[in-house]
Amino acid sequence: MFGRAPKRSNNTKYYDTLGVSKNASQDDLKKAYRKAAIKNHPDKGGDPEKFKELAQAYEVLSDPEKREIYDQYGEDALKEGMGGGGGAGHDPFDIFQTFFGGGPFGGGGGSSRSRRQRRGEDVIHPLKVSLEDIYNGTSKKLALSRNILCSKCKGKGSKSGASIKCAGCQGSGMKVSIRQLGPSMIQQMQHPCNDCKGTGEIISARDRCPQCKGEKVVQEKKVLEVVVEKGMQNGQKIKFPGEADEAPDTITGDIVFIVQQKEHPKFKRKGDDLYLEHTLSLTESLCGFQFVLTHLDGRQLLMKSQPGEVIKPDQFKGINDEGMPIYQRSFMKGKLYLHFAVVFPDSISPDQCKALKGILPFRQSMQLTDVELDECEETTLHDVNMEEEMRRKKHARAQEAYDEDEDDDMHGGAQRVQCAQQ
Ligand SMILES: [Zn+2]
Ligand SMILES: [Zn+2]
Repeated sequence: MFGRAPKRSNNTKYYDTLGVSKNASQDDLKKAYRKAAIKNHPDKGGDPEKFKELAQAYEVLSDPEKREIYDQYGEDALKEGMGGGGGAGHDPFDIFQTFFGGGPFGGGGGSSRSRRQRRGEDVIHPLKVSLEDIYNGTSKKLALSRNILCSKCKGKGSKSGASIKCAGCQGSGMKVSIRQLGPSMIQQMQHPCNDCKGTGEIISARDRCPQCKGEKVVQEKKVLEVVVEKGMQNGQKIKFPGEADEAPDTITGDIVFIVQQKEHPKFKRKGDDLYLEHTLSLTESLCGFQFVLTHLDGRQLLMKSQPGEVIKPDQFKGINDEGMPIYQRSFMKGKLYLHFAVVFPDSISPDQCKALKGILPFRQSMQLTDVELDECEETTLHDVNMEEEMRRKKHARAQEAYDEDEDDDMHGGAQRVQCAQQ
């Protein structure tokens, strides 16, 4: 097409590299670059040369000044520095930008050419969800406000689309300060320029875009529908790529919701399994129990023991496929474990005792003769609260004195503990 005009043969290459037309908008360029750069990123096995070319093409075309030079005179003109010192690859701040930008375009060979493409920060929100929500799956609509590029000025901030290079930082957006640390040691520090807030450009008051007041971005309210899938884990991330705050020359970060599972009054979750504490009376533990459990989806489950079965304190029982749905395989479920406690009566009457002896299997661990009993000392077993006991002992040790409030029996104990310590 333009093959015969050597001057023009060179100035479509950057457009071809990005796969856009010559009249592509900034938005088109951004989208094309983003897509191609992710695809060709060396970290993801892409061709480093291609990645470099993309960054170079984008760096030039995303800068109106450089784009104009390129359109008129081609690539060589830029290399010769006709862009008023803005020739690609000569910027001392490129290296810093590698750090500053972070994200997928921070490292690698293409970094020096892609310094204008920093990655915006991700916005992270906790998402509190009930166990029922995770069991059944749900979606929540959340209204968020974020910055988007001003539609009136397309993120330029000015009516004319022009901006003046910031004098404070020569348009780099960064300033260097040098500190003398010792006779032959200096520290060089780089920080965003205050005059232009790190943008590298200044917009004159009269030229400011009326919609965004030169801020380049405006606030937008947006409703996001967050889908909580069945079986999601506590701490799992739900990402909305590119939905964070927009900013000029920045790849928009993601909005990330982090699932925070609320405590459930009945069920405890461990991975894909559910645990339920259930207390039985002594009679239920011996003679059988039956109760109705309302599950997380509202189903009523009948729980009952086998005839003749005895449930012991601290015993577990399991039910297959009544645990949590497994994430992305929700037709499969974990287990539901029942953990039993048994409440014993505080006392029983002699008659009850006699009746029980007649029923329950008789068991006496040791048969003692009267002679043997005569040789034993009588003891009194009294009730103790072990937590309270331990606290007292600790207190006694610390004070090296026994507690005045303790009853007579305890004095001996406390003193013995003290003696043993000395
Ligand atoms: Zn500046
Ligand atoms: Zn505007």
